[in-house]
Amino acid sequence: MLAAMGALGLVPSSQSTTYTAPQPGDFTLTGRSPKRVVILGAGIAGLAAAYELLKAGYDVTILEAAKKVGGRNLTIRGGDEITEIGGATQRAAFREGTYFNAGPARIAQWMLTMDYCRELGVPLEIFVNSNADAYVHTSGKSIRLRTARADTQGHLSELLAKAANQGALDADLTADDKTNLLDLLREFGQLGEQLTYEGGERRADPGAIPSVGEVLGYRIPYALTWDLAHDQAMPMFQPVGGMDRIVDALVANVGRHRIRTGTPATKITDTGREVVVEHRNGAVRADYCVATLPPHILARVPSSLPQEVVFRLGGGFLFAGGKLGLEYGRRWWELDEKIYGGTSETDLDIGRIWYPSHGFHERRGLLVGYYNLADQAAAYDALSPAARLERALRAGEQVHGPRYRKDLLSSVSMSWANRPHVEAMMNVGLQNVVEQTHGRIYLAGDWLTGLVAWQAGAFESARKAVLSIHERALKEN
Ligand SMILES: Cc1cc2nc3c(=O)[nH]c(=O)nc-3n(C[C@H](O)[C@H](O)[C@H](O)COP(=O)(O)OP(=O)(O)OC[C@H]3O[C@@H](n4cnc5c(N)ncnc54)[C@H](O)[C@@H]3O)c2cc1C
Repeated sequence: MLAAMGALGLVPSSQSTTYTAPQPGDFTLTGRSPKRVVILGAGIAGLAAAYELLKAGYDVTILEAAKKVGGRNLTIRGGDEITEIGGATQRAAFREGTYFNAGPARIAQWMLTMDYCRELGVPLEIFVNSNADAYVHTSGKSIRLRTARADTQGHLSELLAKAANQGALDADLTADDKTNLLDLLREFGQLGEQLTYEGGERRADPGAIPSVGEVLGYRIPYALTWDLAHDQAMPMFQPVGGMDRIVDALVANVGRHRIRTGTPATKITDTGREVVVEHRNGAVRADYCVATLPPHILARVPSSLPQEVVFRLGGGFLFAGGKLGLEYGRRWWELDEKIYGGTSETDLDIGRIWYPSHGFHERRGLLVGYYNLADQAAAYDALSPAARLERALRAGEQVHGPRYRKDLLSSVSMSWANRPHVEAMMNVGLQNVVEQTHGRIYLAGDWLTGLVAWQAGAFESARKAVLSIHERALKEN
């Protein structure tokens, strides 16, 4: 669905950089005083809204339902406990230094997230998103990506060259076009003198070249093209030490004392003069509220939002999403298979296997044993953590053979549909359906933007809410 939205131009490939943060002088120079803002949710949108408002001295309080801040930005380390909505509990047994980005893991270079990492001083390193020496696993076979690409491009080029030479494209091409096309295909498909595909140095495997029929039978074209997408193309980046370094930096700037964890908002009332947010220990009164709760959860919290808005908030399309962190005592993918980072795309229900982009040649390392969505994720969500692990290991063995089970030290599986206070990996379809501003209540979150399931969307929506509040606060004082 997101790919289709991208093809239609509905998913942005750049973000606006024209943003002037609120300044303390905006108030002091005009004799006005900063207002009170209550923020619901300490995910990226909530923390970013607080961070931006504090630049102008707003009086900010954040209520967060979970015990931990960060929302979907979740990095799991040894000792962390994960309890799911159904009650299943896992305690991560990862060794010192191992971490698992159970939510976001990569950042594209054009995303606002990069600007925040720079501003907050979060060190970055390359995230190897695509690796030509990783595999395409299809119909029981693991083929190096470079080989699958070379063979597919080669055979398609040969077919097109034949069609052109047999006159099948004469209605579309001039004689010059035809010459240019054949030159292009020679290079694009590494065709020989006779415009036939006979392999070449782009392939990683010395074995026999598959027939055109075999190549067309791979049937996972996505595996050959996904890393060309605007949000997947290299170079991509990750914070050194874990994605939650961004959360840590935001919290350090906002101040822990402004964040009340384990405090879900239970009622939100806009009285016209202020907003009253009730929680189990009392209420917070503020001039404005920024609600960054997932929309499907906000729809269930009693509030003064118009009924039609509540109805729309509950109408998004929820995607399940799952990830499995596998910690190994030996980096066999580097030592035995020469894979340093990147992804093996598969036609199995694990979706893909991710190899780590850091710690090369260290003794231990953590693979992502599945990263799947929708029905595939739901199938794993329904299992116990032990059964998820077993199912994923069986699938991984098909890609890597028996070594996939050897040297495994520990694992943690993450089910986003079963994550309390989040309940989905993403909520799609509400952009342009729900307005951001409702009286004194402002909504924010990735789901309000064209960048659903990207932190960049959460940052963008937070900035928009902050600018709207600030403009109004300067008028209302
Ligand atoms: C598996 C996965 C992979 C991803 N991959 C990437 C990636 O590679 N790169 C990237 O940039 N992004 C990625 N994302 C998306 C990214 O995590 C999100 O876009 C971003 O974290 C959303 O931030 P948010 O603040 O909008 O929402 P959330 O993080 O969902 O925050 C909402 C907060 O509201 C809190 N809350 C809920 N109910 C209440 C209540 N009643 N009162 C108070 N608080 C409440 C929740 O506990 C939560 O902390 C991924 C996400 C997932 C799940």
